[in-house]
Amino acid sequence: MTAITDHLARLAPASRDKGRLPVGNTASGAEISLPYLLARGRHDGPVLWVTATVHGDEVNGTLAALEFIRTLDLGRMRGACIVIPTANPLAFDARTKTAPQDGLDIDQQFPGAAQGLTTQRVAARLFDDVARVGDCLISLHTLTAHFEALPYGVYKLHPDAPVAEDLLLRHLSFYDPSVVCLMPTVKAADELPGNISGAIDYQFQALGKPAFMVELGARSRIEWPYVHQGVIGLRRSAVELGMFDGTGDDADGWSRPAPGGRVRKVLKRRHVTADRGGLFRAACTPGDILPPGQALGVITDIFGDIVDTVTFAEPVLVIAARRDPVVATGDRIGFVATAWEERQLPGA
Ligand SMILES: [Zn+2]
Repeated sequence: MTAITDHLARLAPASRDKGRLPVGNTASGAEISLPYLLARGRHDGPVLWVTATVHGDEVNGTLAALEFIRTLDLGRMRGACIVIPTANPLAFDARTKTAPQDGLDIDQQFPGAAQGLTTQRVAARLFDDVARVGDCLISLHTLTAHFEALPYGVYKLHPDAPVAEDLLLRHLSFYDPSVVCLMPTVKAADELPGNISGAIDYQFQALGKPAFMVELGARSRIEWPYVHQGVIGLRRSAVELGMFDGTGDDADGWSRPAPGGRVRKVLKRRHVTADRGGLFRAACTPGDILPPGQALGVITDIFGDIVDTVTFAEPVLVIAARRDPVVATGDRIGFVATAWEERQLPGA
């Protein structure tokens, strides 16, 4: 059985390669496989995994990961980088979040099932490799296409293999996130339904190693500023891991980030859903802090008459706002923090 990590072990220092990890085939016979890119530095060092489009249409992450690995200076690099430009190839090809074969959210399936449903098999094939080698895993995502959001960070803390929260927050600060969110891994009423513990970053953390998610805007489109923000963050993470000496250009992400730093940590967040169907018109921009009573937006009915003005009793910080106005009762119209703190990270 071939494996990405076997390929990496055969790779000469200061070289690159690419390949496909076979999973199976479609009904018409096309191969189902996971594409990957490898970059090995001149010197030994840590191994960084970057996975993109775990959700198949979150394409900003794919573009950021490809640009990141393309621009690595292997002659100066210690260690290796493995990029999975799409960790969900069937969903990617279908330009949907999940694969049409089974509709399973692959980021709820890790570590996967080698003899399970199609998506579970893709997850198992990838995670077998991920679990073998690696010092850090960065999972690139975006929000749904209906929304507009600034890049933000998401992390989990595994109860059995805790990675220092400050370490994760420091990495996340490199992406200049609007906020960072600690995602609860037990069922929480304010979160979307699903098995959070099946996320690839959570399962990687179960191995006792740092992993986190970066949300780079919205899906199904290129947002170059957010792609670029992702590339800079990935370079800073690589420097932090010791893959580079950190003496390069600061603006391009190649210099060692200063100790300390700050992040805005969300303590409580929730999805805001429409009470009334109709046309939602956002009255805010991601990053806004709305005082009590100030509208997130209004909903008109199909005749154009306002049927609801969406406000909050407490201040909220807008993480994302809906831009596609067409909503039914229960559709998501906003994603807000209801409690947050400015967190100073430990200094040198
Ligand atoms: Zn996602």
